[in-house]
Amino acid sequence: MDSKKSDLISVVVPCYNEQEALPFFYDEMVRVASSMVGVEIEMLFVDDGSRDKTLDTLRELSARDKRVRYISFSRNFGKEAAMYAGLENSAGDFVAIMDADLQDPPSLLPEMYRAVKEEGYDSVATRRSTRKGEPPIRTFFAKVFYKIINKISKVELVPGARDYRLMSRRMVESVLSLSEYNRFSKGIFAWVGFKTKWLSYENIERVAGKTTWSFFKLFKYSLECIIAFSTAPLAISSLFGFFFCILAVIGIIFVIARQIIWGGSAYGWASTVCIILFVGGVQLFTIGILGQYLSRTYLETKKRPIYLVAETEKDKK
Ligand code: UDP
Ligand code: MG
Repeated sequence: MDSKKSDLISVVVPCYNEQEALPFFYDEMVRVASSMVGVEIEMLFVDDGSRDKTLDTLRELSARDKRVRYISFSRNFGKEAAMYAGLENSAGDFVAIMDADLQDPPSLLPEMYRAVKEEGYDSVATRRSTRKGEPPIRTFFAKVFYKIINKISKVELVPGARDYRLMSRRMVESVLSLSEYNRFSKGIFAWVGFKTKWLSYENIERVAGKTTWSFFKLFKYSLECIIAFSTAPLAISSLFGFFFCILAVIGIIFVIARQIIWGGSAYGWASTVCIILFVGGVQLFTIGILGQYLSRTYLETKKRPIYLVAETEKDKK
């Protein structure tokens, strides 16, 4: 056959304040790369507006090793934007997404590559079989979140799924074709479909540095996912409306009947106030849900870029 000699795998690594973890990551990646024969590896680091020495480290690494490429954002755009930028700028026949903190073990890469190359999968994804080392409250809310989203959405999210995965070029192109501004990659990967193999491994703690995902950030992220992949909250608001209409009709019939039968009904103002407050609350709540969808629509129609680049390795050469 006269096809290319070897496959190129792009490893996309979103980095936000990862100066401590990067040297460990690089060493490990080099070790894994040298263990894979017939495959070329390019590392594409995406510096998501880090405030520490991440960018300096990346400049240094790419000056030393031509397999290292980087994109540096003009500010922090978030991990989703970093992953999108990585996929968009990757050159590989296959593309892997990995965290910089070695929580996604690069040593799984050969096995993942074998599955896409020989077993006919388009993608190999990973999930954590345990959440060891994570605060129990976070685990609890994660469980609740997966229960809810899988009930109300058509895409199926696998509990404990990580963003760590290897994809074929055609899956990458499909993911890129979903160029929405509010991104939730786990949902997007599920939405595009393709044959996916799941590998699980035990949770590994960060090699260095600390996580930048606060509980609040995660909570907002999960709401983002629900809004992006389900319109159930809108349906629930209209159900609320319907329910209260029925209740009102029953109430009206009751009041009229009481007036006719017993007459005199000048009592019960306290309960009236309660009802007004309650219904008013429900109205604001459902309008709020509507507002969430509307604001997403607003942001999407602006068609703002998902990320802005300040520097790449090409600027330094
Ligand atoms: N990350 C990023 N932008 C952000 C936050 C995080 O690119 O705004 C990167 C971070 O550098 C890491 C990955 O996303 O490579 C996962 O982040 P982290 O380890 O903090 O999250 P966790 O593993 O706790 O989910
Ligand atoms: Mg991590």
